[in-house]
Amino acid sequence: MLNIENLHAAVDGKAILKGIDLAIGAGEIHAIMGPNGSGKSTLSYVLAGRPGYEVTQGSATLDGSDLLALGPHERAAAGLFLGFQYPVEIPGVSNVQFLRTAVNAQRRARGEAELSAGDFLRLSREQAGALDMSMDMMKRPVNVGFSGGEKKRNEMVQMGIIDPRLAILDETDSGLDIDALRIVGDGINRIMRKPDKAVLLITHYQRLLDIVQPDFVHVLAGGRIVRSGGAELAHELEREGYGAVAA
Ligand code: ADP
Ligand code: MG
Repeated sequence: MLNIENLHAAVDGKAILKGIDLAIGAGEIHAIMGPNGSGKSTLSYVLAGRPGYEVTQGSATLDGSDLLALGPHERAAAGLFLGFQYPVEIPGVSNVQFLRTAVNAQRRARGEAELSAGDFLRLSREQAGALDMSMDMMKRPVNVGFSGGEKKRNEMVQMGIIDPRLAILDETDSGLDIDALRIVGDGINRIMRKPDKAVLLITHYQRLLDIVQPDFVHVLAGGRIVRSGGAELAHELEREGYGAVAA
């Protein structure tokens, strides 16, 4: 599904990604771990097409087509979803307005009919309900005044409604208490653990991986993937730290 080859990228002229190779197949969940500053968020931004992130070498394809040639909204319409490490607040725009606009823009871009108000409301009730989020919260401005945990939960509601094929989740678990972590982990499994979908999960914590159970684990250090393995690699990292494993 996603194929990254020798990807190099720079921010403000500073090289951050230095040759990433990564292939993610349909039905797979890949975890990326690694020390702070190693380029994990940069990788997710480059794949999502955030302005200011310059690809200097290499390629990334989604289902064989050149992902890097597409604008951010085209990548979203192609099925890519990015969960932010620090979710943005959007004053003046309610969650439901925001999501209905996003869903319908993507449907139009794919040549599909827009969802009616009724169908959208049903979908948002169902997805918010699955994540214990009230419709009152759905009507509030996006993330404004939400706690850290509520923002992350809201991202899962967004993901459930948008129903992407490939989700890149950047430290979705940061700032969550145990119960919220369970809700978010179960949400990832429920929404994304499907044969035609895939997930790139950036995390520091074994706790989330105990719930989501990745098929592959990679260690990113210094802008490169320095180790890859199965779920056991995450346990090794937890025991021995990045220093020993990434050396
Ligand atoms: P991680 O998510 O793994 O903690 P990041 O991708 O956020 O790492 O950052 C990787 C490196 O890129 C860090 O050294 C960081 O300081 C640098 N960096 C990120 N954004 C910028 C920027 N806008 N300008 C300059 N350097 C940046
Ligand atoms: Mg980061």
